[in-house]
Amino acid sequence: MTDTLQKLFDDTVKDLYNAEKQFLKAMPKMAKAATNPQLKTAIADHIKQTEGHVTRLEEVSKFLEIKPTGKVCKAAQGLVEEAQEHLEEVAPGPVLDAAIIVCAQKNEHYEICSYGTLIAWATQLGLNSIVPLLQQTLDEETAANDGLSKVATGAVNEEADAAKPKAPAAKGKASLK
Ligand code: ZN
Ligand code: FE
Ligand code: FE
Repeated sequence: MTDTLQKLFDDTVKDLYNAEKQFLKAMPKMAKAATNPQLKTAIADHIKQTEGHVTRLEEVSKFLEIKPTGKVCKAAQGLVEEAQEHLEEVAPGPVLDAAIIVCAQKNEHYEICSYGTLIAWATQLGLNSIVPLLQQTLDEETAANDGLSKVATGAVNEEADAAKPKAPAAKGKASLK
């Protein structure tokens, strides 16, 4: 039974540790599927940062004297599944890029919310020495999200809007002749 803010804090660290790892595994597929070079770079850069987020949560766990493993973040599972669906169903090019951006930004928002809350709880619990670690990651998640917005509004959304539908498959037509 989770009956203290400290236990809830520990559980949320574990949840986020698992979320970071799931995103870390999913991001190379998103980078590979992206066409826009700025988007590819933005995701590649964030993969490197995310490795640091995992390490920081390991440091936080060490401080808390807990193991960060053992929890599955169901929200991240859903977000990753949704992204995978787009990779399978959206035509490669700017429209898929727009889909990848919204998925990546949903991931960032989940993390931004989680780190923001952990910082508030850590402060409340007097765990001041881990606040800078959490804050550093929060700043990087925020910057990643802002970077994705710039890629979207800078080029991808307009290009996606200009994408022409592929000529419909000739199914049915042949039989009418
Ligand atoms: Zn992260
Ligand atoms: Fe979660
Ligand atoms: Fe992130």
